[in-house]
Amino acid sequence: MYVIIGGGPAGRFAAMELAALNKETLLIEKKYMGGTCLNEGCMVVCGLNDIARFIDNAKNLKNHGIIDFECEIKYKHLLKKLKKTIKTIRKINEKETKESGVEIIYGEAKVIEDKVQVDGEKISYDKLIVATGIKPHIPPIDGVENAITYRDVLEIDELPEVINIVGGGHTASEFAYIFSRFGCKVNVICRSKFLKNLDPEIKKYVVEKLLDDVKIYENTKTLKIGEEYIETSKGKIEGKTFLATGVTPNSKIVNVKKDSKEHIIVNEKMETSMKNVYAAGAVTNRAKNTPVARMEGIVAARNAAGIETRMRYDYIPNSISLKYDVAFIDENKNKKLVNAKMPGPAGPGSFWEVLNKNTGLSKVSVDLNTGEISRVYAVSPIGRDYVAYLSHLLRLGSKVQDFDNFIEVHPSTDSVYKLLRFLAKRI
Ligand SMILES: Cc1cc2nc3c(=O)[nH]c(=O)nc-3n(C[C@H](O)[C@H](O)[C@H](O)COP(=O)(O)OP(=O)(O)OC[C@H]3O[C@@H](n4cnc5c(N)ncnc54)[C@H](O)[C@@H]3O)c2cc1C
Repeated sequence: MYVIIGGGPAGRFAAMELAALNKETLLIEKKYMGGTCLNEGCMVVCGLNDIARFIDNAKNLKNHGIIDFECEIKYKHLLKKLKKTIKTIRKINEKETKESGVEIIYGEAKVIEDKVQVDGEKISYDKLIVATGIKPHIPPIDGVENAITYRDVLEIDELPEVINIVGGGHTASEFAYIFSRFGCKVNVICRSKFLKNLDPEIKKYVVEKLLDDVKIYENTKTLKIGEEYIETSKGKIEGKTFLATGVTPNSKIVNVKKDSKEHIIVNEKMETSMKNVYAAGAVTNRAKNTPVARMEGIVAARNAAGIETRMRYDYIPNSISLKYDVAFIDENKNKKLVNAKMPGPAGPGSFWEVLNKNTGLSKVSVDLNTGEISRVYAVSPIGRDYVAYLSHLLRLGSKVQDFDNFIEVHPSTDSVYKLLRFLAKRI
């Protein structure tokens, strides 16, 4: 029997892979099928971001004098519909998982010696995959219980007038965009720099063009959180506090080797320090997003089934959802890189931004000695779609010269191929 704990992206994909390999597979989920991604994270942000983009676009068309209406958001109703939509997707996920041949049981699992215990029942396993994911990281700040996190977004009844987002990463920026377009005044309070891992030119574009009405405080410590205020090293700010201070792994249930942040340490076969116990997804020291979690689940399943497979972490695509996708692949391995950048072209989703000089921005960094494409940034309405395929091509070994004969679809807001075609001529 193959037992998987956790029905998020990593666990579900591990279970379905094992079922496809004709293994007897049991998936144990504590709460909801789909995990953080569907119920609290990616899909919640996606649902809210769609509305924020709609409001943004409507406002732009109104400013151009093309349409004539104000968007008024009905937040309570929005939440009701969002929950209903997530529930629908959850049911589809559950059906898909069961129909693939996986048995599902709901309950909180614990690993006790060589057995898994759920609601008092002890289950033996031949191979175990731990995919228990994450929960919000709550920093030790005075009054932190007054703050909300991504987990509470679906439960707050009305939008606060002012929202102070603590944190400077992807989640902080995504919620800053959403809440600002929903009409809240948004402050972002970062302990160090905002979006510090992004290319500086891309970050500048994001801050100036996509988060133009968000106030960002960098190098600012949060000292105390009240019900309706926050005290920082730069002074007191009124408003509700939203913590976007990262996540922490649900790794307590199993006694294997962990890193200093309690992530389960795995190798590229997703093996843990314990024989026959694998781990995959955000609970490990590796995965940071859903597609990687899914692939880790598949790799763990294959290895558990005796098919030796190694996880690859090169050219992983990422994306932040704002008015545009801020999609990127950042290997940054080479020192001698040639950069090329250009504004996004006019196309679906950016045509009516031409007059605002806000059509997006692309940037690529290439090693002209080898043709290796090390960094790609696409701020574009469809950036995430083409950056994912580009990532696949790079993993298959494509070099910049392979883009010399690229045939695009027109109109499109992909300007990365233009940059690559331009650089290909310099090889
Ligand atoms: C706000 C937010 C936005 C995000 N947006 C994106 C995005 O746009 N794109 C992207 O790629 N990634 C995004 N992520 C990251 C993504 O959600 C995670 O990488 C992904 O969910 C990890 O999947 P997982 O299966 O490893 O863990 P999870 O999705 O956390 O699933 C773990 C599951 O295990 C269950 N579980 C835990 N303990 C037990 C137990 N003892 N017994 C039984 N079940 C248990 C949990 O209930 C949960 O269902 C976002 C995350 C957040 C927080």
